[in-house]
Amino acid sequence: MATIDKGAAPAFEGTTTGTVRNVDASVQEHDLRSRFIEIRKGVSGGLDLTQASVIVSGGRGVGDAEKLDVVRELADALGAQLGASRAVTDAGWLPHEHQIGSSGVTVSPKLYIACGISGAIQHTVGIKGSGYIVAINKDADAPIFSVADVGVVADLFEIVPALTKAVNETNG
Ligand SMILES: Cc1cc2nc3c(=O)[nH]c(=O)nc-3n(C[C@H](O)[C@H](O)[C@H](O)COP(=O)(O)OP(=O)(O)OC[C@H]3O[C@@H](n4cnc5c(N)ncnc54)[C@H](O)[C@@H]3O)c2cc1C
Repeated sequence: MATIDKGAAPAFEGTTTGTVRNVDASVQEHDLRSRFIEIRKGVSGGLDLTQASVIVSGGRGVGDAEKLDVVRELADALGAQLGASRAVTDAGWLPHEHQIGSSGVTVSPKLYIACGISGAIQHTVGIKGSGYIVAINKDADAPIFSVADVGVVADLFEIVPALTKAVNETNG
């Protein structure tokens, strides 16, 4: 069986051909180690980060739930979706559906902006399909810079509001 995470790669555009090869693999019910019980729908606010073309994410470096507004304002200015690291969702600053990474969602936006995110492997594995990654972190040695196309070593509370202002001015 082959499977791929939703959003792990950009959708293939065009046509391709393939052939289906049937493999005889008869399985008796008593061979199965798992069994179907029921389907339960998860509770979600309807956010689907896998389809977002621009995502601005906040990490623990933001500090607390209220200060996430700084990141949210940049996302709003760019018409982007708001993402987060697990540190943020575990702390309850944002619901789980915003979490990106190995135990969250895998995303492939054209632009991904990480604010105050260290770049643990469990997070970066979820953003590998991004077209362009911008990282803002005050620690020059943060691992996020090894996957970023543009790295800004700075306090996010200086850079992010300045970016938001510039985007809003450009938007007129
Ligand atoms: C089984 C398992 C699954 C996991 N799944 C996920 C997952 O799906 N997604 C995920 O994200 N993590 C996941 N994790 C957790 C992951 O290992 C990290 O702990 C988490 O990603 C850290 O989040 P963070 O980068 O926001 O926080 P931190 O690692 O604490 O990083 C905060 C960063 O903010 C910077 N910073 C602080 N203040 C400022 C400032 N004012 N301006 C700029 N920068 C600042 C710091 O320099 C630091 O680099 C998982 C872990 C395990 C064990």
